[in-house]
Amino acid sequence: MTSSPHIAILGAGPGGYVAAIRAAQLGARVTVIEREQLGGVCLNWGCIPSKALLSVVELGDKLKKSEDLGLVLQAPVTYDLARMVTRKEKVVATLVKGIATLFKGWGIEQVTGQGVVKDARTLAVTLPDGAQREIHADALVIATGSSWPNLPQFPIDGRQIVTSQQILDLTQVPASLAILGGGVEGCEFAALYSGLGTQVTILELMPRLLPLEDEEISSTMERELKKRGVTVLTGTTVEQVERSSESVVLSLKDGSTMTTEKLLVSVGRGFNSRGIGLEQVGVSIGQRGEVLVDEHMRTNVSGIYAIGDVTGKAMLAHVASTQGQVAVEHILGHQRAIDYDVIPAGIFTLPEIGRVGLTEQQARARAVQNGKDPNQAVKVGRFRYGALGKAQATGDTTGFYKVIADAETDRILGMHILGAHAADLIHEPALAMQVGATATQVSGLIHAHPTLAEGVMEAIEDLDGAAIHQLRKTGKG
Ligand code: FAD
Repeated sequence: MTSSPHIAILGAGPGGYVAAIRAAQLGARVTVIEREQLGGVCLNWGCIPSKALLSVVELGDKLKKSEDLGLVLQAPVTYDLARMVTRKEKVVATLVKGIATLFKGWGIEQVTGQGVVKDARTLAVTLPDGAQREIHADALVIATGSSWPNLPQFPIDGRQIVTSQQILDLTQVPASLAILGGGVEGCEFAALYSGLGTQVTILELMPRLLPLEDEEISSTMERELKKRGVTVLTGTTVEQVERSSESVVLSLKDGSTMTTEKLLVSVGRGFNSRGIGLEQVGVSIGQRGEVLVDEHMRTNVSGIYAIGDVTGKAMLAHVASTQGQVAVEHILGHQRAIDYDVIPAGIFTLPEIGRVGLTEQQARARAVQNGKDPNQAVKVGRFRYGALGKAQATGDTTGFYKVIADAETDRILGMHILGAHAADLIHEPALAMQVGATATQVSGLIHAHPTLAEGVMEAIEDLDGAAIHQLRKTGKG
């Protein structure tokens, strides 16, 4: 490798663009190939646009309760979805432009086009005018992400049967919306559209919403969505979908039918690993279609790395970005490896969820696997938002904090927060887990008052029945 190695990155989502900037910071010459927009799904059709719309409904929710706060509005709260969408587009455009500016500042070359891997050091790019260009580099980083599913039984037409990308651009609030899939995306859109006044129904195959979350979080979210008027049908299979000019009719496995104006298909994503030359150069692809990588994000072919959603690890923007940094640092001679044990994540429902580490069910199962009595090995602490001075002052009293700890080592195994600013609050326990701090060390930190962070401290104190603002537990001394 020369003193200024050249790295070519295929895809400019949060994986690819962050990898590019990090590589340039470390002195590499960088070329990024992107067929659509800088920022990928996250900036253009995922994290940012969905949150831009949700933030308006969150504000509207609050304003609807304004009289309780002593704020008198002259007229009822109404939404102008077309203006919300225009603002969302401005937010996205600002951020996309920001990446372009950063690329310019770091001297990163951006090539617009569709790329394929030609060999372990070459990308072949079809430019928008059809011309071909070859990019030779010392290393390639595949950051092609994932796509909306294309399921023949749910024929997406962008009008009545839509993906989450298409629903972000609706400018008229539908009267009814069925959401196929009660995972993270399904629940976020249920919160958004129920807030806008749509009659929302979630149809989930599994016995509970958010099946990967802690059970208490799932059941509380189901309750909160129902309070918003959402109908939740779990353990439900949709067998058939038929469109008429004005509606979509869903036939369910139990023989019943339901009619809806729109259907959002929210049932997972496919990896963008096929048709880009990877198989031809011998890159191993797993059974789900994910590109197989090691802890440095190396594929089995020397010089080819892969990062982000396409690796099928945790399909989160910040994981993609971290993987991107790990990959280019490794290419440039640093030995950083990725560690998936501590990944904080947010679910931007209303109220939102923050989570890190194991659920209570996982912690208990792990104790059993290790031959321990889960009732002895795992401790759980909880604290209600409503018991916090800050939550009472701001009116954000819905929700709770839940911490799971190892009784022997006093290490935090996981934390789950449902309530205002949960996705921000989760970083304190996440850092504690990352650096191996004990639960007692975290609760021993002086927490500023009045803040929602005090709930983290009190939940941890509750591990030993010692939360100050909580009633004495029966049976505790
Ligand atoms: P992508 O963002 O998919 O980017 C890949 C890029 O590669 C794309 O721009 C694509 O055009 C380009 N590309 C692909 N193939 C080629 C090719 N052959 N040639 C040239 N270019 C190519 N994650 C969170 O962490 N928090 C959230 O709140 C969150 N909310 C989400 C909400 C929704 C509705 C959705 C759909 C996703 C959300 N995600 C969220 C997930 C997040 O968007 C992804 O995990 C993240 O975008 C993955 O980044 P990536 O760089 O791997 O891929």
